[in-house]
Amino acid sequence: MNRRKFIQLGALTAPLLSARKSFADSFDQSTKPIVISTWDSGMPVNAEAWKILSANGTALDAVEAGARHIENEINCCVGLGGYPDRDGIVTLDSCIMDHQANCGAVAGIERIKHPVSVARKVMENTPHVILVGAGAQQFAVENGFVLEPEALSESAKKAYADWLKKSEYKPVINIENMPVDNRIKKQNGPFAPHFFEDGTANHDTMGLVAMDVTGNLSGAVTTSGMAFKLHGRVGDSPIIGAGLFVDNEIGAATSSGTGEEVIRICGTHLVVEFMRQGYSPEKACRKAVERIVNRDKEKAKTLQVGFLAMNKKGEYGAYAIQKGFVYSVKSDNENMIHTSKYLI
Ligand code: ASP
Repeated sequence: MNRRKFIQLGALTAPLLSARKSFADSFDQSTKPIVISTWDSGMPVNAEAWKILSANGTALDAVEAGARHIENEINCCVGLGGYPDRDGIVTLDSCIMDHQANCGAVAGIERIKHPVSVARKVMENTPHVILVGAGAQQFAVENGFVLEPEALSESAKKAYADWLKKSEYKPVINIENMPVDNRIKKQNGPFAPHFFEDGTANHDTMGLVAMDVTGNLSGAVTTSGMAFKLHGRVGDSPIIGAGLFVDNEIGAATSSGTGEEVIRICGTHLVVEFMRQGYSPEKACRKAVERIVNRDKEKAKTLQVGFLAMNKKGEYGAYAIQKGFVYSVKSDNENMIHTSKYLI
């Protein structure tokens, strides 16, 4: 019996009405619109994106708005309030990608408040994908972005002064061992926990993926990158296929953690490819994490990487190397922080 006949038949009899509903539901299980984002700092980011999604706006506008929101936070993990590199300079990385595989990125950009919007301009107004450093800044200024003062935020100033005492270039893994609701943190290194005692957050990357009412996917990432990195270092966050990948037929993924490890395996592209093979978002993220861990099991114990993914049905999931990765979800059905599973 085909679907139309079934529905015609079902319409004639009351008992079959509920059967018809569940049958029809199996044709469209998608949750949309929906937005997911890395970390608990994703809650206000999702709220901002939701304003656009719930007004039938595009996923692209939503992810840009979400990323801009956190870039405005002065004592936060990303944007100009983020931690500087080892020379004391804040350099920002960001990218954006839409449902047609259009994408744009900036890396190592200085003194620009909204790198995600510059990334969008690169995507929309140039034939290129990535602009870096001085060239990215020049492009931003030419496109009307204001050059902000060089000053560090108060929290970054303090963290940098502490770091300078030893000036050790030894990334410490970003593992949050405490449950999300009682995470009052103390700084313990470049990959310090997410929140400090004063409630401010460290550098953790904001990656978000959204699906709009039409079912189109987009994603964006914004970060100040690994704290106290070498000047000029670029992580996974602005690299399409590493920190973010969107395939409108399959799904989208983003990442946070030690960017070098994500780049090595083209992490988010890999996650999307696993979803193409039929794996759920969570399983796809797990398989990408396994790829990192299996490469060097000993080294993996000193690393943290978390992947976060959504498929075309609006199903989502995450997986991390270590305990502590959390992510935020907003849809008509929920507005909450989830804890990622982990491998080690
Ligand atoms: N992935 C970022 C980077 O390597 C850092 C982070 O997510 O915390 O630059």
